[in-house]
Amino acid sequence: MSAAENALTLDSPIDTVSGIGKIKKALFERVGIRTVSELLCYAPSGWIDTAPAKFSEASGGAVRLFVATVLTRPARAYIKGGRRSVSFSVSDGEERATVCYLNQPYAASAFEKGETVLLMGRVCSYSGKLWLFSPQKLKKAPDAVKLAVYPKTAGLSDNDFRKAVASVLHLCGLLPDPLPESLLKKNSLPSLGEALRALHAPKDDASLAAAKRRLGYDALLRLALRVSAFEEKRSKDLFDPFENPDMKNFFGQFPFTFTDCQLRALSQIAGDLTGSGKRPVMNRLLQGDVGSGKTAVAAAACYICAANGFNSVVMAPTEILASQHYEFFKKIFSPLGIRTAFLSGSAGKAERDYFNSCFEDPDGVPVVGVGTHALLEPGAKINNAALAVIDEQQRFGVGQRGKLAEKCRIANTLVMTATPIPRSLALFLFSPDNVSELDSLPPGRLPVKTYLIGENKRERLTAFMDELVSKGGRVYVVCPLIDESEDPLGLNSAAETAKRIAEALPERRVALLHGKMKNAEKDAVMAQFASGKAQILVSTTVIEVGVNVPEANLMVIENADRFGLSQLHQLRGRVGRGKTQSFCVLVTARRNADALRRLKKLCETGDGFEIARFDLEERGPGDFFGTLQSGHGFGEGFGEELTQSVREDAVFVRESDPALAEKLSGARVSLN
Ligand code: ADP
Ligand code: MG
Repeated sequence: MSAAENALTLDSPIDTVSGIGKIKKALFERVGIRTVSELLCYAPSGWIDTAPAKFSEASGGAVRLFVATVLTRPARAYIKGGRRSVSFSVSDGEERATVCYLNQPYAASAFEKGETVLLMGRVCSYSGKLWLFSPQKLKKAPDAVKLAVYPKTAGLSDNDFRKAVASVLHLCGLLPDPLPESLLKKNSLPSLGEALRALHAPKDDASLAAAKRRLGYDALLRLALRVSAFEEKRSKDLFDPFENPDMKNFFGQFPFTFTDCQLRALSQIAGDLTGSGKRPVMNRLLQGDVGSGKTAVAAAACYICAANGFNSVVMAPTEILASQHYEFFKKIFSPLGIRTAFLSGSAGKAERDYFNSCFEDPDGVPVVGVGTHALLEPGAKINNAALAVIDEQQRFGVGQRGKLAEKCRIANTLVMTATPIPRSLALFLFSPDNVSELDSLPPGRLPVKTYLIGENKRERLTAFMDELVSKGGRVYVVCPLIDESEDPLGLNSAAETAKRIAEALPERRVALLHGKMKNAEKDAVMAQFASGKAQILVSTTVIEVGVNVPEANLMVIENADRFGLSQLHQLRGRVGRGKTQSFCVLVTARRNADALRRLKKLCETGDGFEIARFDLEERGPGDFFGTLQSGHGFGEGFGEELTQSVREDAVFVRESDPALAEKLSGARVSLN
């Protein structure tokens, strides 16, 4: 250790670390790192396994290291978009791959035919060939078993982080641990310093796993503290409950009868909203698998409010979903003399004025306002509302959920989620009495037949699409967003996929939907697909939630390994809504046994709760909480048992150390 490193303390400014000058200092500051301690607390977002891999095991997957022999001389060429490429073949002793550098002409002189090189990058497969785009050429093998990768920041590379961290890593032991020793012992967790040291420079898999568990624990504990503070506040928020209205006219608007579980959920909601005496506002979670009919239950809750002269608001995470809800609610409510109004970010002045005027109606005609986050804006007038419904809650944070309720006169909240949360996790967010479950689907639904295929079956898949469409069916094709460094030619993009299908099936209309389109364009495309003018809809995940096209009977998911199981299950829920047999085809180029096992789970079961449980055990709760958690996906190895323990621990911390509880549940946390 050099003298300079010896002089560093946790509080030293970041530019006292060797190698960090003015420019890098500014970049580090941009991600909130001003001191050595903040650098150490900046947790990596992933790790690269440094054991050399074979191309076959790594295809389509993570960044890996390869020992490869250069088989051909680097050749320069021009490719589409006027870009220059350098490419050559390599072998890992078993298989060949093509290495390709874009706009890096000097790469041509960095490789010689016959030499053996160490490459770090991602292998992907297109049209039966393996590719490595712009891999890094390493001079020597790293000594660590895993290399940390940091959240992406313009201007700072992983190497910048690794170098800076290496020179201050010895200070980890000095980091104060906010958690009491007793909790660490009880849950067999490493100290914060130990955990961070293992995250930045893992010695072995076991210590890395323990470190992730520690950070996952911290995130869950914070969440549990925040939620219990929120619940306590809410339980003091009292209102005069409503009268139980006659629901006959309401039920009369539906072409179906409510299922038993819908009725059960409804009576639980009615129990929260109606009755006598003062009572705490409703704070209920309604969870049910995709297609279980949550929207109709939400409508019933809005009806109870309207019948008592109160307005309500319904918030959905995307414009498409919000407008579908709006259409549905309008159909149900207008014959009942209840207004509906729509609001989204793209609404024009007239639409906004109409929305606000409904809520400011002097005659007090009740209104159900449906919209996106736009409902949270100060310009959206939400007068006299007694209910906030939040659909697809996993897309919103605790903060947003509270914000909508705060705009209501009475903060009754109904939160709906289509990613079934295993019970123990749901209990983080709601107490047991406040969870309603729709545990069966409406009658007459056929389970979606699900298959997992590799690239080699692509032609058969195309023929299958054609066959279904010829019989009146409709097809969704979903493509994940793939990072430019892995897919510089955009071959995996929705646009390219749409082009490929259109070329293969010239008789069919193929429509394209992606997140960058304007809302009006998206609506037009959805309308084409819903009406059957277009029979194949290729999209990014914008269609994930809620969209309802009963004729759609095939869901194709490209690069299926890129999605979480629960997300795949939700996507699959877009089909199987009509009377004919529906199918879901998961396409993956991966041959990794773990990835395939996960995907096969979906082929075996259609039960969202079972899938969620499996996903939880495999991946930890990070995915379920999304933005609720502080952003990272730590939490591997979290069974239901440990989550239960965290809830107890939260009670313990709140009782034994209120100041610590306050500090931990603060909005911003020190770990990124
Ligand atoms: P989700 O729970 O995924 O939000 P939706 O509320 O969108 O599900 O309902 C899915 C479909 O099922 C809709 O077309 C809806 O009209 C229909 N549906 C809801 N309840 C019933 C029922 N009791 N019987 C028949 N169909 C129903
Ligand atoms: Mg829904």
